[in-house]
Amino acid sequence: MTDVLIAGAGPTGLLLAAELAMAGVSVTVLEHRTGPGLPRPVGLQPRTAELLEMRGLNPADPQADGPNGHFAGLPVALDHSVWQTRHPRVLNRTQDDVEAMLAAHALAHGAVIERGHEVTAVEADADGVTVDGRRARWLVACDGAHSAVRRLLGVPFPGRTETYVATLAHIRLAAASELVPARAAHFSQVTRQVEGHWSMLTPLGDGGHRFVFGSTRHQPGRDAPVSDTEVTEALTALYGAETRLGEVYGASRFNDATRQLEQYRHGRVLFAGDAAHIHPPLGGQGLNLGVQDAMNLGWKLAATVRGTAPAGLLDTYQAERHPAAERVLRHTAAQRVFTTPERSENVEALREIVVDLMRLPDANRYFSGLLSGLGLSYPGAQRVPDLDLTTASGPTRLSALLHGGRGLLLDLGDHPVPPGFTGQVDHVRAATGEAGYRGTLLLIRPDGYAVDPAELGRWFG
Ligand SMILES: Cc1cc2nc3c(=O)[nH]c(=O)nc-3n(C[C@H](O)[C@H](O)[C@H](O)COP(=O)(O)OP(=O)(O)OC[C@H]3O[C@@H](n4cnc5c(N)ncnc54)[C@H](O)[C@@H]3O)c2cc1C
Repeated sequence: MTDVLIAGAGPTGLLLAAELAMAGVSVTVLEHRTGPGLPRPVGLQPRTAELLEMRGLNPADPQADGPNGHFAGLPVALDHSVWQTRHPRVLNRTQDDVEAMLAAHALAHGAVIERGHEVTAVEADADGVTVDGRRARWLVACDGAHSAVRRLLGVPFPGRTETYVATLAHIRLAAASELVPARAAHFSQVTRQVEGHWSMLTPLGDGGHRFVFGSTRHQPGRDAPVSDTEVTEALTALYGAETRLGEVYGASRFNDATRQLEQYRHGRVLFAGDAAHIHPPLGGQGLNLGVQDAMNLGWKLAATVRGTAPAGLLDTYQAERHPAAERVLRHTAAQRVFTTPERSENVEALREIVVDLMRLPDANRYFSGLLSGLGLSYPGAQRVPDLDLTTASGPTRLSALLHGGRGLLLDLGDHPVPPGFTGQVDHVRAATGEAGYRGTLLLIRPDGYAVDPAELGRWFG
């Protein structure tokens, strides 16, 4: 019997599979797609890049000079460097690219990925789950916003229904009027509204454009295919007849629905990523939230499967990750105020005040922490920066000591081994030049958050 089945090989399911496999748990991912995902551009936020680096994955940034994240498209740069990070920029990648990287990582650690398998039947009991006739001890639903597992188990997904559907198309123009932005600029400078149509048209470095558009008159279905005709109509309405479409090389739709599960665990079934929470794609958060869910859940579920988890460990997944997503749902709701196609004097006035606030260093740090994920800590569990260290084997970094996905007792002084230590985490003595950490004893969880070393038993048994 497989220990864990995962429904869905999106970013969340793939990273979770790698985390479980790395911890010696048998895991199979069931994915109904046979081919790659969408080549949709996504931004990997600084905290996500830090987490991936803790597993030896360092996604290079092909467009390091792109926009560095934003809050509601407001024209104030977010300075992530104040968080003492090696990743002060949002990394521009495409979703299929991220998935390919995570799939290779999961396979390398021994996870099984079965493509062409659509999950259609799920039953759960006290001892495990049966998925399409196959038994496993646990099921994790990472099957996205329209989660089949959620539907099959009748788990409610409360929240707000969508008020609009927008289209995101990657296009090449055959001809451009002077209304077409010539350079990538801040979102607020590439938006247009004309008689019921709105858009953001951003030139990409490769000669193409990212065209996000919608209409207050016509709302296409979320899954309706995007036709060249509608792209042409929107271009003409917004940028004049001289602007002509060359080709569409990738298109998808999104909406502003906002929902979150009340409970991420239903007996032997857990939920992560878009299957657990959805929100409009403002500020580039969804994939990042899913990756962070997976890092948080992986080691806790692995310890539970192996029977080494202390009481209540798995419950901390809900306790930590539900509020983290709730926070994102709240700030994407706030961003909607500024990105709504309808202009209003009240909103303009509020926009000016928020822009002024964002220019204040403390406020900028707050917004950066919110969007980048670097500002997130859990009760009793703090983010630790990727410290430069010198161990008996030579110079290294904290992130390198976490590549194996194990907990770490990091002695940066000369501390006695805490009571209850039986080798359940790695134990490394090192020196650091970082004044704030020199001489300390840190107990770092596999997901990179430091907890009180006196609570070794609470986290690692
Ligand atoms: C236009 C747009 C732009 C976005 N931009 C960003 C961005 O810049 N930054 C960011 O962080 N996020 C962005 N997002 C959000 C991001 O794409 C999602 O949050 C992310 O893909 C969620 O990952 P996931 O693995 O949880 O779910 P998904 O990526 O949806 O993966 C779910 C997987 O489950 C599979 N599946 C579904 N049903 C079944 C079934 N019954 N059986 C088997 N398999 C099944 C699917 O095929 C899919 O592979 C954007 C989204 C949109 C729509």
